[in-house]
Amino acid sequence: MLKNRKIHKPNQLFLAVADDLYTIRNQIIDTIYLFSCIFGTFAFYSSIIRFTKLGIQPSFLYNCLLFILVWSVFLLRKKISMIWKASIFFILFFMSGVLLNITFTVISGPIHFILVSTLTTLIFGWKLGLVTIGFTIITRSLIAVLYARGILSLQINFNEYALATPALLSTIVGGAFSALVIVFAIDKFYAWLITALNTLKEKNDELAVKNSELVAAIQKAEENDRLKSVFLANMSHEIRTPMNAIIGFSNFLARPNLSQDRRERYSELVQERSYDLLRIIEDILDISKIENRQLKLEFSEIHLDTLLVEIFEYYNLKLKKTDVSKVVLKLEISENIKELAISSDKQRLMQVINNLLDNAIKFTPKGEVVLKAKLGKTDSVIEFSVSDSGIGIPEDKIDIIFDRFRQADESLAARQYGGSGLGLSISKGILELLGGKIWVESEYGKGSTFNFTLPFQKIEVSEKLSKKGDLRNRNWIDKRVLVVEDDLANSEYLVELLYDTKIQVSKAMTANEVRKLLKNKQKPDIVLMDIRLPDESGIVLTKEIKKQYPKVIVVAQTAYASKEDQQECIDAGCSDFITKPIDQENLLNVIESLLNSGQQ
Ligand code: ADP
Repeated sequence: MLKNRKIHKPNQLFLAVADDLYTIRNQIIDTIYLFSCIFGTFAFYSSIIRFTKLGIQPSFLYNCLLFILVWSVFLLRKKISMIWKASIFFILFFMSGVLLNITFTVISGPIHFILVSTLTTLIFGWKLGLVTIGFTIITRSLIAVLYARGILSLQINFNEYALATPALLSTIVGGAFSALVIVFAIDKFYAWLITALNTLKEKNDELAVKNSELVAAIQKAEENDRLKSVFLANMSHEIRTPMNAIIGFSNFLARPNLSQDRRERYSELVQERSYDLLRIIEDILDISKIENRQLKLEFSEIHLDTLLVEIFEYYNLKLKKTDVSKVVLKLEISENIKELAISSDKQRLMQVINNLLDNAIKFTPKGEVVLKAKLGKTDSVIEFSVSDSGIGIPEDKIDIIFDRFRQADESLAARQYGGSGLGLSISKGILELLGGKIWVESEYGKGSTFNFTLPFQKIEVSEKLSKKGDLRNRNWIDKRVLVVEDDLANSEYLVELLYDTKIQVSKAMTANEVRKLLKNKQKPDIVLMDIRLPDESGIVLTKEIKKQYPKVIVVAQTAYASKEDQQECIDAGCSDFITKPIDQENLLNVIESLLNSGQQ
């Protein structure tokens, strides 16, 4: 049967086997019914013969009824209802118990037994089958005994042979035995079939569950694949756009007769786009750190009002520079958090607020953006919100925008706002680490409000953080710096950053060059040490220098920004570190404070 089937998937194969078993079961039952009908017909036929010889007898009527009944059951079996079943049972039971026992023929006895018990068992199960047989045996025996004792007299013609006691007994015993065997066999077969089918059904259910899990996994993989392609296309766009400006304007800057105005504008654009590029790279690193649970927080003292005002001023300035911007920025800080100093990760908190403000401004072609902060109900939570009157988010996209790489508008062709789809998932990851949560309320076409909470520990207000040092006239003409950097462009960049301070500069690109310079007694006051050199680790070189000249200040300059990397630099003897890309003000501040602290 299976041979002719088409190729099935595994779960379909089980279904097919189950189908086949059902078919076999039905065929067996059909066959049994058919046999019952043949027996019934045979009994009917024998009654007719007897009728021609003996005239009407109860057995004739009974056989007629049985004949009609078995054939009706056979034909109607598939659609049989409970009422039908009940009526058939009643007739069978009644007849087998009363009418059947009025006649005693050698052949019809076992046949009736088989018929009645088989039909009853098939329709109602083995228990009622046995009851029927029991009842038949008892009534038959009773009638036989009553008749033998002359208590019961039958007014009809009987076959003498059939009334003989041994024949009667053999009829009863033979009929009962064969009926029992049949009932038992049918029942066993049923039990086996049902167990087999149940096991199959369980297996099939298990397979169906696994199958639906598999389908879900495949769909997820396909979705991830699609998201990856969208992400790569986005990334390519996001990286190439600032690169295009950086390369293009850098080329323009090389032109000899460029007006001062243009030179300044181009430099500004190169700088801005470089920071855009840096942010994308940092976003990618952040999301991978968040996913690998490697993002470490660095707690420090934060004066919230100062921080929020600084952010607000920065964005206001940025908006003013953009001629096309029609966005008004507002800041609302509740009284109870002014003067509040908390301990949290300042950089990460700023990153979250910046992400939300960037988005709010980006998705608001015209209108206002409001940054709010207030103390939460529990007093140990600050509630922030960034609301805008921009394009809003469709309801069905609200849940996905916090997933990495997901954007409300994912159709590449229709995207007009750019972005990598990472900002919100990074913000969510950061806030989870800080113990807070983020959510959005939005109405499509009307605007959005991103809320987030930040649990905090209040700290006693220390000296207010000194505001960024003003650009001073630094003159370090009597000092010498050794720039250790293997990348020529970066080395020249450092020299350029230090140019105005008039500090004397020596340069080395390898550890060996450093060793040669030190041998020639060119002892610097300060070393700007690249941690990754081609011939030696900057850490090892720092240890060597500090061993030889403990008073030389070493400042690590590194692209590795993790806390562990920074600690490694300090352990090796570095006095401080600056991370690449190097900010001029930061570099000069660090050098100045080290030179002033007399660490030489
Ligand atoms: P990106 O802005 O780089 O696409 P984000 O993770 O920051 O990535 O944001 C994911 C998406 O959420 C955005 O692409 C945008 O569809 C939607 N979104 C975020 N902020 C806003 C907002 N203020 N108004 C409307 N849509 C927003």
